[in-house]
Amino acid sequence: MLDLKNYINILDNIFIIKRIVNPQDKTIIDFDSDLPTASSHACFDFWERGNSCPNCISMRALNENASFSKVENIDDRLYMVIAAPIKLNNDKYVVELLRDITDETSASLYVDKTSQDLQNEIYKLNQLAIKDPLTNTFNRRYLNEQLPCNLKKFNDCKFSLAIIMVDLDKFKDINDSLGHLCGDYILKEVSFILKSYIKNYNGWTCRYGGDEFIIYVENISKEQSYIIAENLREGINNYKFVYNNTPVHTTCSFGVCFLNEKNIDFNDVINNADMKLLEAKKTRNTVI
Ligand code: GH3
Ligand code: MG
Repeated sequence: MLDLKNYINILDNIFIIKRIVNPQDKTIIDFDSDLPTASSHACFDFWERGNSCPNCISMRALNENASFSKVENIDDRLYMVIAAPIKLNNDKYVVELLRDITDETSASLYVDKTSQDLQNEIYKLNQLAIKDPLTNTFNRRYLNEQLPCNLKKFNDCKFSLAIIMVDLDKFKDINDSLGHLCGDYILKEVSFILKSYIKNYNGWTCRYGGDEFIIYVENISKEQSYIIAENLREGINNYKFVYNNTPVHTTCSFGVCFLNEKNIDFNDVINNADMKLLEAKKTRNTVI
């Protein structure tokens, strides 16, 4: 462990921060002692936003077993962040390296910008990695990076959460009869409805793939999670979609996975919602 520390110290001249993190629970690992211990600081405290980074490249490094980099900022200072997976005592962690690049030529692009412009551009760049370009909802990668952390939080303290899997009914028929551009329009509209509604509950929506979406909400009761799904089902069923002056009707099926038991893992949650959705698909335009 100390060898590792000495090795990392060689990088002092290059990086202002060199640290090992556990991206699932967002802790910084102290490797001064023989046993790695989590410090009381969260890895995201450095960014002074009070929340974890939506574009968490350390979770990505852990999931995909590869190195990733990104640019972040604090006010008008720019930072290059590099995250690389590492194994310590058979446990997987991530090495994070941060370099202040504010005064480098690569950052000269931002010289004439205000601090707010800079923040907006960095925000946009980081959103690109986690958003689905067609629907502007989060992408599946975001789900893979966010949900395991939320489940960890769920296992560590007391709160409830629900995953709602949504699939458009007979969506192929819309593509086949009205064209794929109309299909794209429906996907955008449906995702907008899901996203706007779920914002009221501080939840988020991602495109799981094709015509499937996943909604995440926390701190709600089982009854509330079914009410949310039912309201969305009814809202979409009643919505008057119009594409090129042609009215289009569509419905969705919903599988609700409400969590009240702990130590449930990512795959179990997805499988549970999937099974419920499969059941709902037997009748369609249904919540199970
Ligand atoms: P079901 O009620 O059983 O779900 O029937 P379905 O026709 O909706 O079947 P399924 O969910 O398997 O079909 C998904 C279709 O979504 C197939 C694919 O061609 C279409 N699709 C996937 N991605 C896109 C996209 O980005 N745009 C458009 N227009 N279509 C897409
Ligand atoms: Mg479908």
